[in-house]
Amino acid sequence: MDCIFCKIVSGEIPSVKVYEDDRVLAFMDINPINEGHLLIIPKAHAATIHEIAEGDFLAVMSATRKLSAAVKKTLNPDGINLLQLNGKAANQVVPHLHVHIVPRWFGDGLTISQWEMVAGNMEKIKAIAEKIQREIVN
Ligand SMILES: [Zn+2]
Repeated sequence: MDCIFCKIVSGEIPSVKVYEDDRVLAFMDINPINEGHLLIIPKAHAATIHEIAEGDFLAVMSATRKLSAAVKKTLNPDGINLLQLNGKAANQVVPHLHVHIVPRWFGDGLTISQWEMVAGNMEKIKAIAEKIQREIVN
């Protein structure tokens, strides 16, 4: 498969690894947007949240929690953003599911998670909530 992250998993493309277990690999982002920016991926290929097996996703999340703690100890950031993008419209660049850990400091100038607070239409909000609730599968 012509997937950059699968090639990182196989070792065909080198990476700066920080964590590995049966299901998960974590490595430094080589285009960091802040110091300590790293990526957590499942070893089994899955393009997005819609394709990944639940067990692999839970393993990715568990590793994300561990690595966030390690990043906090190492770099002592003021905060941490976790980012997980699905699909081109969401700015996903590599179609192999990944979670970004982005350490944040006051005044670092990044604009992740900054948006204008504009009151929504409550009727529309409630209608969408009801439709989503009907589609939840346990
Ligand atoms: Zn892949």
